[in-house]
Amino acid sequence: MKKIIKNGIIVTAADTYAGDVLIENGVITALGLGLEAADAEVIDAAGCYVFPGGIDPHTHLDMPFGGTVTADDFETGTRAAAFGGTTTVIDFCLTTKGEPLQRAVDTWHNKSKDKAVIDYSFHLMVSELNDRVLGELPQIIEDEGITSLKVFMAYKNTFQADDGTLYKTLQTAKKEGALVMVHAENGDVIEFLVEQALAAGNTDPIYHALTRPPELEGEATARAAYLTELTDSQLYVVHVTCAEAAWKIAEARKKGLRVYGETCPQYLVLDQSALEKPDFEGAKYVWSPPLREAWNQDALWDALWNGSLQTIGSDQCSFNFKGQKELGRGDFSKIPNGGPTIEDRFSLLYSEGVTKGRISLNKFVDIIATSSAKLFGLFPQKGTIAVGSDADIVIFDPNVKRTLSAATHHMNVDYNAFEGFEVNGEPVSVLSRGEFVIRDKTFVGQAGSGQYLRRKRFEAEVPLPARKEIGGGVV
Ligand SMILES: [Zn+2]
Repeated sequence: MKKIIKNGIIVTAADTYAGDVLIENGVITALGLGLEAADAEVIDAAGCYVFPGGIDPHTHLDMPFGGTVTADDFETGTRAAAFGGTTTVIDFCLTTKGEPLQRAVDTWHNKSKDKAVIDYSFHLMVSELNDRVLGELPQIIEDEGITSLKVFMAYKNTFQADDGTLYKTLQTAKKEGALVMVHAENGDVIEFLVEQALAAGNTDPIYHALTRPPELEGEATARAAYLTELTDSQLYVVHVTCAEAAWKIAEARKKGLRVYGETCPQYLVLDQSALEKPDFEGAKYVWSPPLREAWNQDALWDALWNGSLQTIGSDQCSFNFKGQKELGRGDFSKIPNGGPTIEDRFSLLYSEGVTKGRISLNKFVDIIATSSAKLFGLFPQKGTIAVGSDADIVIFDPNVKRTLSAATHHMNVDYNAFEGFEVNGEPVSVLSRGEFVIRDKTFVGQAGSGQYLRRKRFEAEVPLPARKEIGGGVV
């Protein structure tokens, strides 16, 4: 029942120190030098970092899209996540207009409960906010602990909600203590640009990027931020790809708004030119929003470093090249959007971020785990190494050099978006609530061992005191 991780360097968002971790009944019960417990299994972490397990706040597992379903489900997806150092995922529960919310949530429970190998939770998509949904939402937030609501400003005629729905969702979230997440792109204009491109015979994958320019991401981000200001609510912008959007988030935060942002590994290391690969291979790199011109990568790294963006999500949404991405041959608008990223998120951020000197070790932990735990109501159960926290732990060897490849990855998909990429570091062993899921780079977990996480309501990361409370008098 007891384990001690010895000889490693413990890293949290705040501290880096040599120490041992005592684990009892799935929880961390002591931290210190030279810990002993007679009946404990000793795990040697010499030469390794001991990180809190990664939290991936943005996955799509077993998700229908454009007439097909993602290649990875909750079993293959969470297994690959664990190999990569992630111990919690928050997946998006899709809803359909007219359908009771509870039925959608039950569908997601059925997809995940016997399959997940690590802990998981759900965000809830809001596509309409009529009296019925308004009546059901408080119950879902309370009973299911789903405290984040996703609104799509793009994907006209499928997922897209109008501005009124976004506004009402922000109002409701303010009242209920939920965090509103937006896919920020101007879907109305994009639909028109796509029609124009196809009519002109421009059907190759690159036109996916050219019909979704960064201005339309910046515009939607700013619009969502203004509606957040107007409702005094809170907003989390998913998958920020470009300077235009990152700057709008920075501007909103400068105003003191509770506006947060996430980027994804693909936007930090890949660029728009990948969509021009020959033989339709560009389809492998079709994400929405799209990959951008390479100079945006520096803007995103800056935004992570200076705190304008707080998290990195994988936006895992894998489709095979053969038979799935190929649905868009001759019409880029029919290419299923998304890619396989859940496994390499952690190592890419470490390698490109820490070893290249762009972020510190502690900032890495903050971005890969701690910030998401705080924003999504899981802290301090998840997202840190502390007495009382779940023993979700990654033993990470920073000295390994390896090459990312579909030949060695564990995702159930026929290509790797980062094929040939050299990275420093690799998770050696990964524990979920004190049990090994990965041991010495081998999977030893079990489908269905992951637990569903009910999350706390949103709390602003730095609650500002009311002015009259400062110094004991009105100032
Ligand atoms: Zn997504």
